[in-house]
Amino acid sequence: MTQTVYIIGSGQDGGLPQFGSRMAPDMTARVDPLAVRLGPSICIVDQPVAGAPGSCFLVDVSPDIKEQEDRLLKLPAYAARATQNPFDGVLLTHAHMGHYAGLVHFGREAANCSNLPVWCTEKMAGFLSANAPWDQLVSLGNIELRAVGTRGRVSLQPWPGLSIRPIAVPHRGEYTDTVGISINETLLYVPDIDNWDAWPAAREEVGKHKISLLDATFYSRDELPGRDLSEISHPFITDTLKKFGDLTKDRRIILTHFNHSNPVCDPGSVQARTVLEAGFELAQEMTAIRL
Ligand SMILES: [Zn+2]
Ligand SMILES: [Zn+2]
Repeated sequence: MTQTVYIIGSGQDGGLPQFGSRMAPDMTARVDPLAVRLGPSICIVDQPVAGAPGSCFLVDVSPDIKEQEDRLLKLPAYAARATQNPFDGVLLTHAHMGHYAGLVHFGREAANCSNLPVWCTEKMAGFLSANAPWDQLVSLGNIELRAVGTRGRVSLQPWPGLSIRPIAVPHRGEYTDTVGISINETLLYVPDIDNWDAWPAAREEVGKHKISLLDATFYSRDELPGRDLSEISHPFITDTLKKFGDLTKDRRIILTHFNHSNPVCDPGSVQARTVLEAGFELAQEMTAIRL
């Protein structure tokens, strides 16, 4: 099987444009489709074999899932699917709005999914089962929760050749814990983390993956005048370049999960150039990564 990972949303939870904001980048994105960045999510697509449609596995369900489905429908492997469930399985990293709120579309008022397997941590499964409106997705059988630990690897049956290793990472956890994931030990996806120093395994994990997609919510503290740094639950790109710069020589490090204020969202910015010159990549909408 050949798997391709599509970055179907490279924005922070609120995306770009962000609802309620009249900052210049948001006003630009309202008139320029190329400047739009949807909520954070990736989709793993198994290419069709012998005429059978490929399987599609979603990581996080952003509030922009409807627009993301529109984009996926342009891919033959996704468009060829003829099943009730829009995806074969879903994994959720944590319960911040950009990563799971799109689940509202999985219920009986919309897609009316049937026993869609949803992998998440035990705490997240408990949260979804105990709180409305998510509990109804469980009680009506739209989704089937499959709690995973953060030790060891989970084979996502029935997809031979696809395995996910959830990795616990430190991140603001009002409701649930947070995981990053390793896909087939080839691609590391960590869309949200408080800071790299709070995760002792950060360099080791990035070092052993061929491709890493990392939290790049803010470029620097200049975006957050007057904000207490201890309230910021993300590393700055300026720190990320220092932390992993030497590792870009023989692996791809792609930055993603950009806040609407992040200057790298503008490819012509000095900051975007600085990132590229340091050997990193900037996620674009629908970037395709062959595993
Ligand atoms: Zn997020
Ligand atoms: Zn978060």
